[in-house]
Amino acid sequence: MNKESANSLTRRIVIGMLAGISLGWIFQWLLPTNGDLLIPLGFFDFAVRGFFVDGLFEIGGQIFVTSLKMLVVPLVFVSIICGTCSLTDTSKLGRIGGRAIALYLLTTAIAITIAIGAGLLFNPGEGVNMAAGTTFAATEAPSLTQVIIDMFPSNPFDAFAKGNMLQIIVFALLFGIAIALAGDAGERIAKQFEDFNEVIMRLVVILMNLAPYGVFCLMTTLFVDLSLSDFGSLIKYFFVVFGVLVVHALVTYPVILKVLTGLNPIIFIKKMRTTALFAFSTASSNATIPSTMNTATKKLGVHNSIASFTVPMGATINMDGTAIMQGVATVFIAQVFNVDLTITDFLMVILTATLASIGTAGVPGVGLIMLAMVLAQVGLPVEGIGLIIGVDRLLDMVRTAVNITGDSMVTLVVGKSEGQFDETIYNSADDTSRDRIDFHHLKD
Ligand code: ASP
Repeated sequence: MNKESANSLTRRIVIGMLAGISLGWIFQWLLPTNGDLLIPLGFFDFAVRGFFVDGLFEIGGQIFVTSLKMLVVPLVFVSIICGTCSLTDTSKLGRIGGRAIALYLLTTAIAITIAIGAGLLFNPGEGVNMAAGTTFAATEAPSLTQVIIDMFPSNPFDAFAKGNMLQIIVFALLFGIAIALAGDAGERIAKQFEDFNEVIMRLVVILMNLAPYGVFCLMTTLFVDLSLSDFGSLIKYFFVVFGVLVVHALVTYPVILKVLTGLNPIIFIKKMRTTALFAFSTASSNATIPSTMNTATKKLGVHNSIASFTVPMGATINMDGTAIMQGVATVFIAQVFNVDLTITDFLMVILTATLASIGTAGVPGVGLIMLAMVLAQVGLPVEGIGLIIGVDRLLDMVRTAVNITGDSMVTLVVGKSEGQFDETIYNSADDTSRDRIDFHHLKD
């Protein structure tokens, strides 16, 4: 199979995305929300808005995201169990978890430090004079004790129903350890879970094949209403956040990867493309878990015993992209409200934002809610969030792509350090032929 067709899924997703964005802009141009229609046809308005935008495309996009989310709980549960059973020495779990958490926290702290530095260097809030539009109440930062206690489910089915990722991870780990220790009965059950895992991964691949259409629908509905007039004085803020996100993904991660593993980081970046597109389109690290898992195991060569554990954990506790937005936003809001932050304040921001990433679900827009916590910590007006909300959706998409790239990088580092990594798969061409499904001949 030549390289051209090997990358066809990524290409098809990009085409779907660009087509969606273009169609969204065209619809927006034809149907301005202020009622000032360029083509004042009632029927046309109804057909485009009612039938396509709020109808067909909304249904297509929502079904796509919901189907991805549908896979997350069973996928995480089953693959963690398979991963844990396949570890020959379950005492390794503590070490793997410790390394992953340490790296997750470290990369988040680096991210926010760079962000604050860039904010101070480029002064995005200078000369911005805006009235706050939205009122926000800061949520209290949960205490570390509570976060740890809350990781243990009193009722695993409640955790499944609510999609509480940390609780599901803990239960699956304990269940997996018990299977590994249960002799013959454990072996029989482990076999069943291996088969389940195979089937669920197949379902992931089926959905990935439908992604170009899902992404097309999502982008169309999003871009119909995405107003560029909100950018105005926020353009500098937008580009500082965007720039730091790009630098973190394309410089910080490759450097860390090279230093800690010696692997060629360009391969890593290339193989992350499809998953980054998933994250960009869904703005949800959680919904992207199936794709991240697929990339980590099938393309990056990390064994399931590591990836099954570190990927969902990363999607839940590791949000470097979000921390970057929070760092720049804090500096921006301080500048707009003429508040001078001290070095101690900045250290506080780094600490709060890093800790706040733990226990926060990877869903769209959650970064802004966490920002309220960070602002309150250093006495900045929480209403400042109202200033940046207009450009947050686009930034959310980009930062989610960074978040999952960070999860994958840490997964790779931990996998390599534990010897649970296949370098041949990592170095092989990004062959997505096995990801292709012929829906007309499902048995092939
Ligand atoms: N949407 C982000 C994620 O899912 C979180 C955020 O920054 O709002 O990773």
